[in-house]
Amino acid sequence: MEVSTSIPFNKPYLTGKETHYVYQAVASGKISGDGLFTKKCHQFFEETFGFSKCLLTTSCTDALEMAAILLDMQQGDEVILPSYTFVSTANAFVLRGAKLVFADSAKDNPNMDIHSLRGLITSKTKVIVPVHYAGIACDMDALMDLANEFGIYVVEDAAQAVDSWYTSKDGSKKPLGSIGHMAAFSFHETKNIMSGEGGMLVINDPKFAARAEIIREKGTNRSAFFRGEIDKYGWVDMGSSFLPSDILAAFLFAQLENLNDIQNKRKEIWNFYHAGMTELASAGKVTLPFIPDWASNNAHMYYIVCKSPTHRQGVIEALKKQGIMAVFHYLSLHKSEYYKDKHDGRELVNSDHYSDCLVRLPMYYELTTAQQELILKTIYTYFLSV
Ligand SMILES: *Cc1c(COP(=O)(O)O)cnc(C)c1O
Repeated sequence: MEVSTSIPFNKPYLTGKETHYVYQAVASGKISGDGLFTKKCHQFFEETFGFSKCLLTTSCTDALEMAAILLDMQQGDEVILPSYTFVSTANAFVLRGAKLVFADSAKDNPNMDIHSLRGLITSKTKVIVPVHYAGIACDMDALMDLANEFGIYVVEDAAQAVDSWYTSKDGSKKPLGSIGHMAAFSFHETKNIMSGEGGMLVINDPKFAARAEIIREKGTNRSAFFRGEIDKYGWVDMGSSFLPSDILAAFLFAQLENLNDIQNKRKEIWNFYHAGMTELASAGKVTLPFIPDWASNNAHMYYIVCKSPTHRQGVIEALKKQGIMAVFHYLSLHKSEYYKDKHDGRELVNSDHYSDCLVRLPMYYELTTAQQELILKTIYTYFLSV
């Protein structure tokens, strides 16, 4: 008889304090944005990671849209970004009329191949948006050197990269999100630290700080007003409503207080998969995540790359028969229904390879060793059969 199991791909983890803090936020009577818990979250990030200015948003998508507004992206400006990414990385700039110039992934890793970027830069290139896929750092020294050489901005899509680090050539360790001019994080329920929906914009270049507050507050200088810096507030710039209710921040703060516990648990799970997969990788059946020397691993995701789409489908189906949900990931954006006719026609073979062959395994705090063993066994059994 087939064992009936049910292992979802993701299960949001609750630390237990979320509802308590949400209750406190509600009871405080100040449940719109920028209340006590929003301040606590900002302070947590500023103290833990040394980010100079943090602004919670309702999503990473919003944080990316704020970044595009702050950069004054205009019709015809160009943005370089990976094709292998989530649509929000692209949409934020499309909404401002910018032209997308897609970069290919590296051969050994889904991140953008930094060395392919020089050839994509034109006089219209305004910003490069590296995505730290699976929380693994892009080569930020090489990227920042290139951007500085051409006077181009860098916005890190750090949606998956909370508590992940980059080691610079000079040996210094920098948290992802602290290196580009700005960075966007996500607290969507599929991320390591979450509040259902949620995000954050980090401002590293101080020249964007004042305007960021205004854009986030519907184009008004209300934040300065509440600090007592001005005696009335009004409409001073374009903007929208990007700030979350303090209820969301209260939920997020409970997660942040448990950051180390959550990360340690995820790393244990990640390492168990990785050790378990070594034999299959040595046999040449799959390729495992590659972590460059400069990158830490925040265990956001465990994926394997199969040799062909057929094998990937086989793995997904074999797991599904056991009640285990494994899922593929992005479809190359340069081939998407929305952008394929606007793309300049370059082939992006590595992006397509990850698009066709990468599969993500269940990854969440409560995943047990027994469940992981079943997942590994199912995958090994599948590859013995082909
Ligand atoms: C999750 C994710 C986003 C979007 O985050 P939201 O908070 O859901 O808007 C953007 N980019 C990447 C790379 C992501 O993984």
